[in-house]
Amino acid sequence: MIILSKEKGVMNIMSKIKDGIIGHAVGDAMGVPVEFCIREKLLINPVTDMIGYGSHQVPEGFWSDDTSMEIALIDSYITKGKFDYDDIMTKFNNWVNYGEYTPSGEVFDIGRTCLQAIRNYSHGNIKATDCGLTSFNSNGNGSLMRILPVAYYCFYNKLKQNDIYNIVKDISSLTHRHEISILGCYIYINYVLFLLNGKDKYSAYNMVKLIDYSMFSNESLDLYSRILKEDISKLTVNDIKSSGYVIDTLEASLWVLLKSKSYKESIIGAINLGNDTDTIGAITGSMSGIVYGYDEIPEKWLNKLAKRDYLEKLCNDFELILTGCEENM
Ligand SMILES: [Mg+2]
Repeated sequence: MIILSKEKGVMNIMSKIKDGIIGHAVGDAMGVPVEFCIREKLLINPVTDMIGYGSHQVPEGFWSDDTSMEIALIDSYITKGKFDYDDIMTKFNNWVNYGEYTPSGEVFDIGRTCLQAIRNYSHGNIKATDCGLTSFNSNGNGSLMRILPVAYYCFYNKLKQNDIYNIVKDISSLTHRHEISILGCYIYINYVLFLLNGKDKYSAYNMVKLIDYSMFSNESLDLYSRILKEDISKLTVNDIKSSGYVIDTLEASLWVLLKSKSYKESIIGAINLGNDTDTIGAITGSMSGIVYGYDEIPEKWLNKLAKRDYLEKLCNDFELILTGCEENM
């Protein structure tokens, strides 16, 4: 349900989409300056606020590829009124080559697998959903980090499990076609859907373990056993890797969400795990934003977020289309 209120002449929307998308962007921006920093270094000098420069030499509040690809997906949906895979790949290409969907017109962070998949699309006559890489070594977090809009699409359209699987598989496959990547996205999307349906973060976690995974191989499912068979929150920080491997990223993000008590605590916890800090910040921030709500995101972080107004307008436009309200506005 969306709640509309008129304040200072502007229509405001209490938005589930803003909770997750802005939560994601803030987590991304918090992690950018320390991407690739090792945990030991962050233990001595932890990040506790939104800072700039560091790893990518960009100002504070700049978000990276995680948010760029996510908003390209949203912009495509707003433009086409559906997930049009060719249009999404064209928009990804515009991001890589022309700096669209970036804070300053410059791309400063891009994953190898995403880049190769986008090149596959622009160079050849290949179906968009066949562009993603399929090798075991192409299971970075590059599809997980941008797939959040699919959760909203599934939520507002009340999709059933098989349709959720098909759309997750297609959207991941644009860049990441290996089953391990698709399974990571599928677990994440289902977890987010339980949150959007009002489950608390622990109940949502218990429920995501119970859904049908029979479309995946036992080999891939075994790799996710610490999430799906065990209780990830019982692990210690030393058990948690925070690399860009999709399984490590999902484990780290779920672990820190379940262990923390606020949006702020979850982001600080995620970033200080080190290594792939921007993506783990983004994934954690997306879930944490939905759990605690937009209003719990520290205002001083929001004030520094690059292109905040643009991002919030995209969220509003996306929500209006998904809820069918745009005709009434
Ligand atoms: Mg990034």
